[in-house]
Amino acid sequence: MNPLNSFVAPRRVTRKIHVGKVAVGGDAAISVQSMTNTDTRNVAATHAQIMALAEAGADMVRVSCPDEEAALAMGPLVAGSPVPLIADIHFDHRLALIALDKGVDGLRLNPGNIGSRARVAEVARAACERRVPIRIGVNAGSLERELLNRYKEPCAEAMVESALQHIRILEDLDYREIKVSLKASNAAMTVAAYRMLATRTDYPLHLGITEAGGLIPGTVKSAVGLGLLLAEGLGDTLRISLSTDPVVEVRVGFEILKALGLRNRGVSIISCPTCSRQEMPVIDITAKLEARLAHILEPVTVSIIGCVVNGPGEAKESHVGIVGGAGENLLYLGGKPVGKVADVDVVERLAQEVEAWVAGMRGLERS
Ligand code: SF4
Repeated sequence: MNPLNSFVAPRRVTRKIHVGKVAVGGDAAISVQSMTNTDTRNVAATHAQIMALAEAGADMVRVSCPDEEAALAMGPLVAGSPVPLIADIHFDHRLALIALDKGVDGLRLNPGNIGSRARVAEVARAACERRVPIRIGVNAGSLERELLNRYKEPCAEAMVESALQHIRILEDLDYREIKVSLKASNAAMTVAAYRMLATRTDYPLHLGITEAGGLIPGTVKSAVGLGLLLAEGLGDTLRISLSTDPVVEVRVGFEILKALGLRNRGVSIISCPTCSRQEMPVIDITAKLEARLAHILEPVTVSIIGCVVNGPGEAKESHVGIVGGAGENLLYLGGKPVGKVADVDVVERLAQEVEAWVAGMRGLERS
């Protein structure tokens, strides 16, 4: 039995919607998203980043549409994208209409900030005709003035009330292809808001800690906040917001899901922190192997352990393992020792063995 099953609560039952070919909510796998940070009007640069994100495993990608030229660029971007694209819209309902016309698979907007009811209705109607879902994206940093006046400062209650107001606008128009996010840069506020909203609606939840920071603090904050929610069974899709290359956001998203046993994708490396007992350069090998095997989608476990203290035990539980030894590191395949490898050859040998393992898995799947 997976030991994680004992501390991860069953998923909350949510309504299932579809962002293009990707199901969100219900029994669908928890999807991982990211967002481009190129100038959307630069189609070549944005397309290249979408491809990099898709290759890293992003199930869908959000693209900002700050003006008409950017909204028009969604045409070629959608045509060239292997994953569903979501247009991020603020203030101007016409940009949402253009993006829909260009074939986007999802919209992220807040009905309350794109103008009159008639304008919201026009967008909801166009989205409904194309079966394109809308994410209501509440952000603690841009709550409505009326809510801020009433609650005095951003708080979980105000975020939930904002979300419910936006939801009501769409429901009044008989539009229910909705997912909701409640993001704050404060993890505790974010967690409280999602917990509260989960008791009020069955729409799928898009999780995220907004503006979480740079790589290390942002990853830790996101892992703590989203980890708490996911362990409680909350969350249907997620985006990690980091001030770094968005490809890294995708990797962090998957690592959080993998740590909770909620998704299993790509190579999982088990490596020791090293100490004076190490007999091979574990840190260098691990960094090189991570980069070398970033293209692998299948779940494979690789252990890279510096000495015999923990090496054989970990290698026995891994698909591929290496244990440091004085000039003769011991290679394990399928938990069994099979031969010696010199330090200089370790990265390439492990990569080849993982690729061979994956080829075997693919062969088994086909047969
Ligand atoms: Fe040190 Fe060996 Fe432990 Fe690695 S496995 S940290 S080298 S004792």
